[in-house]
Amino acid sequence: MSDRFQDALHRTLPALQGMKRGLKKAPRASASALAKLRESRPAAKSSGVAARPSTEWTLDSLREAALACTRCPHLVASRTQVVFGVGNPKADLMFVGEAPGADEDEQGEPFVGRAGQLLTKIIQAMGFERSDIYIANVLKCRPNMPAGESGNRKPKADEMQTCLPWLEEQIRLIQPKAIVALGATAVEGLLHDTSPMKDLRGRWLEFQGIPVMVTYHPAYLLRNQSIGEKRKVWEDMLLVLEMLGFKITAKQRRFFTQTAD
Ligand code: SF4
Repeated sequence: MSDRFQDALHRTLPALQGMKRGLKKAPRASASALAKLRESRPAAKSSGVAARPSTEWTLDSLREAALACTRCPHLVASRTQVVFGVGNPKADLMFVGEAPGADEDEQGEPFVGRAGQLLTKIIQAMGFERSDIYIANVLKCRPNMPAGESGNRKPKADEMQTCLPWLEEQIRLIQPKAIVALGATAVEGLLHDTSPMKDLRGRWLEFQGIPVMVTYHPAYLLRNQSIGEKRKVWEDMLLVLEMLGFKITAKQRRFFTQTAD
């Protein structure tokens, strides 16, 4: 472990461990409770986690420390680079996936492969550009593959747990008004909820006071290209736009229906 990272870890671990001790399994939030939550976001920013002793991190310094992280020797040995996250450091909306794949490992940016291109289209259909929002994964290094095997594997629970403080701190610094968790593994890593997607999708959960919408991972949509599955994801995104206070056009409401333009 480099002296620089060790020093960074020593400075921040007490605060991060305090955050983890305060993390409870997220209750399911009702629509009215979440509406109240949205109204109270400015106050929430100056209380709770944000009111804990400062870790002195900025997003840039956190990124620099994360890029040098060596806490998982087996992933350090196989990774090309740490994939920290990308986007607007003051984003109102954050997308969280599970882990980098081969393309992301190579380019150092989350969601740049085929699934990432689909995510970009979803973001644009919502009326944003990728640079407007923030995208990160729970696990920052590509899960290693057994010798002789190609492709991507799902991150293990202990790997996500080890890496989670980086994401927790990213979220604490960005303070988005809403988070979209992409797929069941992202929900497991972020919220420790192992419920199946049929029980999670389209539901509002909560992470440290921030509403979390659960939807399918775009890779699922690449495997299941029916208009019905696309519509489910789109309905989740409409709920997110409503939560953020955006006006939704009639055309947007019709996306992925038989009557769509
Ligand atoms: S997965 Fe996370 S904790 Fe593990 S080495 Fe990579 S950045 Fe560090």
